[in-house]
Amino acid sequence: MSKNVYVTPSGKKLVTVIPGDGVGPEVVYSVQRIIAAAAAPIEWEECQAGARVFEQGIPSGVLPSTIESIRKTRVVLKGPLETPVGYGEKSANVTLRKLFETYGNIRPAREMPGVPTLYSGRGINLVIVRENIEDLYAGIEYMQTPDVAQGIKLISRMGCEKIVRLAFEFARSEGRKSVHCATKSNIMKLTEGTLKRTFEKAAQEYPDIEAHHIIVDNCAHQLVKKPEQFSVIVTTNMNGDILSDLTSGLIGGLGFAPSANIGKKVAIFEAVHGSAPKYAGKNVINPTALIMSATMMLRHLDEFEAAESIENALHVTLASGVHTRDVIGDVGAASTTQFTDAIISNLGRSLPQWTLPERKPLHLPEMSLDLTSVADRCVIGADIFVESLLDPEELGASIAKLTSETPFTLQLISNRGTKVYPAIGAMTECVDQYRCRFLFKKTTKGLANTDIDAQIFDLVQQVATQHKWAHLEKLQRFNGERGFTKDQGED
Ligand code: NAP
Repeated sequence: MSKNVYVTPSGKKLVTVIPGDGVGPEVVYSVQRIIAAAAAPIEWEECQAGARVFEQGIPSGVLPSTIESIRKTRVVLKGPLETPVGYGEKSANVTLRKLFETYGNIRPAREMPGVPTLYSGRGINLVIVRENIEDLYAGIEYMQTPDVAQGIKLISRMGCEKIVRLAFEFARSEGRKSVHCATKSNIMKLTEGTLKRTFEKAAQEYPDIEAHHIIVDNCAHQLVKKPEQFSVIVTTNMNGDILSDLTSGLIGGLGFAPSANIGKKVAIFEAVHGSAPKYAGKNVINPTALIMSATMMLRHLDEFEAAESIENALHVTLASGVHTRDVIGDVGAASTTQFTDAIISNLGRSLPQWTLPERKPLHLPEMSLDLTSVADRCVIGADIFVESLLDPEELGASIAKLTSETPFTLQLISNRGTKVYPAIGAMTECVDQYRCRFLFKKTTKGLANTDIDAQIFDLVQQVATQHKWAHLEKLQRFNGERGFTKDQGED
């Protein structure tokens, strides 16, 4: 990892710092003061992203000079960024994660000394490893009709391979003994199922670590009932987003939830929380989450000693009863500045009863991301999505008639995933988007791809003579396996 670090002529490690929006500048300044006091050899290059950049009319929310800086330093400490309504379409946070392919989001949740919670004393010490690029958060969405929106849940085997191995490697770097993989593969067999299958295969290469699969909803339930049973949880992007807010609630709230966005080339360190606009400029916000993110950054930069010293000073401060208002309310609360001062004055001290885990450098998995070898693949049909206000029987009769002379059979029509034609007695309340599933009457083996495509396009044209089509999807088999799911009620 250190090969990516930019060292300045004065021998310091250069880090791009983005103060961000709302409370961002306050928590970033707190971290900068603590890092300076700990004498960590860090130099900052300050850059802009977020609200003020959107206001300049840059729809990504990230200045080109910020991108240049990150390309150079490869390490970022970032305050929270707002996504203002009306300036830009995309979140600047997501833009940064995607631009620099920081595919893994590591979100620790550890009980903190002196911070009272419902779970105090139970020793919560777990880490969510969240996939950071794919899933529904790839943000690929369409209005297929004026009233029906569709979002694409995109999961690649490569993305799963990377995140799963990152989770195992992270467990090893912290001497952790178990990894759970939380998925919804019982329902989403192809997308979430890819993560489960990839996890189970990769686990065989990590015999020193226990590997468990858990259904994500039960994972949420177990996290509330018995969080201490978990050490590392690897999961898809949206599940990880939700579970990690839950886990931050177990240890005192968003003020205590750090995160690291890790990629092969760039790492971005930030708090889980947002810009908390109502507290901006009030000097009351808890900077712990970003301080903990900064200790992760220091370890990433091989500055283990400074990281440990800061973490110990933070623990001493919290245990001594110096708390911001999110922990004890307004009366007697330390301001952000006072809390920071206390940490600085506690540098060099530690809590004997609160030992830090022995951490080793995190080795990012090197892997050859070969494509799956497919000896046998064939197109067996196509799904055409149409917008229609007809009832299923009328629509089915019309489409069956229109396509009767084509090389396809209309196998079924579904509405929101339930078969409604031919009728199976379902009481589905249909919306104006239907999926029409066509299968080739004869095998396409031996046919050229261009001929298969031509037949599918002819089919679409037939349907389009009387109906509005919105989306087309090929139905394929790979190595004899169906590459699509069945509808509810489909045989
Ligand atoms: P938020 O900024 O995280 O704040 C939600 C609440 O969490 C706050 O009102 C406060 O709760 C508590 N909180 C957050 N940070 C805290 C801290 N450091 N110390 C103590 N309490 C803290 O979430 P939001 O209000 O939903 O989002 C505001 C903006 O931030 C949005 O524009 C959103 O898009 C953006 N955002 C950015 C990021 C990021 O940059 N990574 C992440 C999330 C959201 P109480 O009200 O109970 O005191």
